[in-house]
Amino acid sequence: MSVLVTGGLGYIGSHTCVELMNSGVDVVVLDNLYNCKKSSYDRIKALVGKDFKFYECDIRDREGMSKVFENEDIDSVIHFAGLKAVGESVQKPLEYFDNNVNGTLVLLDVMRQYGCKKIVFSSSATVYGMNNVSPLKEDMEVGGVTNPYGRTKYMIECILKDLYTSDNSWSICLLRYFNPIGAHKSGTMGEDPNGIPNNLMPFITQVAIGKREKLNVFGNDYATKDGTGIRDYIHVVDLALGHVKAVEKVRGEEGLFIYNLGTGVGYSVLDVVKAFEKASGVTIPYEICPRRAGDIAICYSDPHKALTELNWKAERGLEEMCEDSWRWQSQNPDGYPD
Ligand code: NAD
Ligand code: UDP
Repeated sequence: MSVLVTGGLGYIGSHTCVELMNSGVDVVVLDNLYNCKKSSYDRIKALVGKDFKFYECDIRDREGMSKVFENEDIDSVIHFAGLKAVGESVQKPLEYFDNNVNGTLVLLDVMRQYGCKKIVFSSSATVYGMNNVSPLKEDMEVGGVTNPYGRTKYMIECILKDLYTSDNSWSICLLRYFNPIGAHKSGTMGEDPNGIPNNLMPFITQVAIGKREKLNVFGNDYATKDGTGIRDYIHVVDLALGHVKAVEKVRGEEGLFIYNLGTGVGYSVLDVVKAFEKASGVTIPYEICPRRAGDIAICYSDPHKALTELNWKAERGLEEMCEDSWRWQSQNPDGYPD
């Protein structure tokens, strides 16, 4: 029995594939290569030391998806495939709703057709919206999201909840990620954004390697200790290990499960800059800029539910996240090879 990993060659998917195979879980990987390189497959293979099946396929391609289920013995799915750039989603809402929401509908329908009713879904802390106060807990009301990307996550959560209500033999796990950063210890896998990075850590590492002149710090007038935004950064390998536990959960039990995957600790933008400088020995020039539209001051998790029910908690601290991000960036200045 294999787990189908959609979007499995992307940043979080690739790290998750390594941890799944290292813990003895067989995987089948599917990706349309829209936001990753095929060489990510080779890097995963080199790390785990064994081959695995890869399908180049779009989740919206019903026929292609059916073939995967026809050919493979898939009992569960981890669903990473999606577009994730907040700013781009404002410019291209139809593309985001089509890819993320319509793609998920096709995936779920094909799963149902083949009697596969276990799914772990990549949701996001963004579903908590602007109004909940951190630490964010799974039973808080979700919604009130401010951009099309966030709305796709919220809508897919609603779809999965409605699906479970209609048929309790599904096993559905919604994982709400906080801010994944870091990279594999080997320095061979990491985050490889296209163009100008939207997120803080890849921007910092590109400044450190000399690709960008300075970091723009979006606002220093928030009600936080140093005025900059506070987030719950989580090492991507800890996040990957959370998926190993989530797959065990959906394979073992029917139900609808919702977990935050975060550390429960918030760091400011300037904390991250300082920690990165310490880990890398490189100074990061920065400039204080206006706030970025849609940002909130403080966002961090209450991670206790995942500890109690999945026996999972994040083990890696900010220093290690910075060291590993830097190792990846410095060893692969241009990311994955073409
Ligand atoms: P990523 O872009 O690196 O990985 C997503 C992968 O999905 C890519 O390899 C892409 O080519 C593939 N893909 C996209 N659309 C597809 C489609 N229609 N069919 C097949 N493959 C498709 O992103 P990531 O950071 O690894 O994120 C994985 C998931 O986690 C996404 O759903 C994202 O929204 C969610 N998430 C990410 C973050 C984050 O900060 N990285 C935070 C919260 C949630
Ligand atoms: N940020 C910043 N400069 C950047 C990118 C991000 O100051 O170039 C800040 C952003 O305002 C937020 C934090 O860093 O306070 C994390 O932003 P990111 O985009 O990485 O994640 P988000 O929490 O917005 O999903």
